[in-house]
Amino acid sequence: MEQAYEYSGHLHVHSSFSDGHGTFQEIAEAAAEAGLDFVGITDHRTLGALEQGLEGYYGNVLMLVGTELNTFKNHYIAFGVREMDVFSCDDDPQVVIDAVNARGGFGYLAHPLEKGNPYLMDGRCFPWDRWDVKGYTGMEIWNFGSLWRMAFSRKLQALFWYYLGRYRAGRHPGEEILELWDDLNRERLVIGFAGSDAHAIPASLGPMRLKLFSYQFLFRTLNTHLLLEEKLSQDPEEAREQVYSALRQGNFYIGSDYLHPCRGFRFYAMRDEQSISMGEDVAFTSPVVLRVSSPCRRGIIRIIKDGRLVYTSNQQNLGFKVLKPGVFRAEIHYRPLVGRSLPWIYSNPIRVTE
Ligand SMILES: [Zn+2]
Ligand SMILES: [Zn+2]
Repeated sequence: MEQAYEYSGHLHVHSSFSDGHGTFQEIAEAAAEAGLDFVGITDHRTLGALEQGLEGYYGNVLMLVGTELNTFKNHYIAFGVREMDVFSCDDDPQVVIDAVNARGGFGYLAHPLEKGNPYLMDGRCFPWDRWDVKGYTGMEIWNFGSLWRMAFSRKLQALFWYYLGRYRAGRHPGEEILELWDDLNRERLVIGFAGSDAHAIPASLGPMRLKLFSYQFLFRTLNTHLLLEEKLSQDPEEAREQVYSALRQGNFYIGSDYLHPCRGFRFYAMRDEQSISMGEDVAFTSPVVLRVSSPCRRGIIRIIKDGRLVYTSNQQNLGFKVLKPGVFRAEIHYRPLVGRSLPWIYSNPIRVTE
């Protein structure tokens, strides 16, 4: 989709309805400061905020209420459910996936490859261990909080980097998860999304009181950029449906606005003058050309086909002729003025079918 309205938001956020430490009002203010258009709140095993009528616009920020299901493993981020009675079924997550689908919702596997850190939370972690599940919409491929929890082996080291390079531990989603994502996409469309697992945890360091990973900081990191055909409605219910429909279809990309603002990235395919969006299939019955635009000249465009890097370019805009069917996605790495290039933007896939 070449011409599109772009809206950025942040998904996978915890509020004071579960173990987060911010009210809807505070979270919306932090989102407005970061320039976001929407936030997907996903408190653990509750839709309490919906019941209290907290969903809707706070100024220009659309606050949406989803939930994170399951307790000790197989966390499932669900949106689009207005009521729920199965909040946890850790050993058989298909039950929660089916329950969400039956209520008209959709969802994503959360931090599926999380590993424990012996120095944090007694080594507790919350990965996925059931890969026979079906019927889910996508998977979280970049989770800032989860990467941070895995990164450090000493408390002091964590504290050092918290102050001197807070972005460092979450700066790469990891090869393992990208490989898994690409593998799953060869079977069927699995949409990728990013989150921060924002909690804004209060902590004390001697006499100092601080909030670890404030919403203000996290909302400037891994964001979700939706491409809509029409402007986002001022009516909260209509706007919710617009956001959810893009999230279901995969017509969005994720990126780190911390490295450089992502707005303006585009990835779509053209066939016979027809444009095909991220998340869509296109049949290879006549020539297909992928179009990629980087928002900045410091980007390196990478085209991935069936999990393999097939093309790299320093150009800001390019057309890539598809020679064989496959699952295609685009990445952009950002070249800072000094230092190595870092992962910046990930598109959702376009599947070119036989
Ligand atoms: Zn979780
Ligand atoms: Zn979470």
